Order: sequence, then C-alpha cells, then structure tokens
Amino acid sequence: MELALVAHDSKKAALIEWASRNRDRLDGHTIFATATTGGLLETELGLTVSKTLSGPMGGDQQIGAKIAEGVIDAVIFFWDPMETQPHDTDVKALLRIAVAWDVPMACSESTAQMVIESSRLVDKDYTRTTPAHPRTRTA
Ligand code: PGA
Repeated sequence: MELALVAHDSKKAALIEWASRNRDRLDGHTIFATATTGGLLETELGLTVSKTLSGPMGGDQQIGAKIAEGVIDAVIFFWDPMETQPHDTDVKALLRIAVAWDVPMACSESTAQMVIESSRLVDKDYTRTTPAHPRTRTA
C-alpha cells in the first residue's frame, strides 16, 4: 500500500508516537510525507520516506496530485482543528481530493489505527469508486 502521512506542527509528536507504535505495520508499505513530517519519520523511526515539499510550500497539493494520479491508497493526516494554518486552502483541497477519489483518509488517531489495521483490505480486496464528473464522462 502507498501511504501518505502528514501532520501539522502541533500534531507532529502525536503522529510520530502513533507511527512508532505501529512501526511494524508501516514496514512493507511505501511511505510518502510532507517534508517536515517525513524528515521526522526518517530520523525518529528510521523509515524510508518519499518526501514532498513542506505543506505550506505546496506539499499538501503534491500529496493531492498523487491521490488524483492514483499513486496513494490511504492518507493519515493529523491536522490541527484548533488553529488556522497559513495554507488552510491547501489543507481543504487535500481533504476534498481524498474524498473525491474515495481514498481512505484518517484525520484522527483512532481512525488512523483502524486504517492501518485494515490495510490488508485496502491493499488487496477493496476497489474504490472513481469520481464521476460531467466534464470527464465519456459517452
Ligand atoms: P510539513 O507539512 O510536514 O512540512 O510540516 C505539513 C503540513 O503542514 O501540511
């Protein structure tokens, strides 16, 4: 499974702690992450991470583009519901594109746990719906 991990600054410690607890489950998956989150996953946990730009510099949009390209199967996104981000529009766009492409997106720790524990289903047995849009429909 191709998994994207992103955390806002106030949620980075929680994401690293969650990833540490699930280190064995993350092994075997391809990990994408925004720059700072990915750097922490590498240095703290020794994970191999394909990093985008930092979120505020366009990284969230790069993750969104990978979703639209069919590269990413699930997103773990620990975003901060208590603070406005400078890149709020990008955050909203990432949330939207994940839903548009029916990609599982965990925005809380308990949901992340459920996604990672059901990753066998995501990997092998589950076919997501593809978005329909009048301008992209054929005949
Ligand atoms: P970062 O980006 O991992 O580079 O901090 C995350 C974000 O704020 O979207």
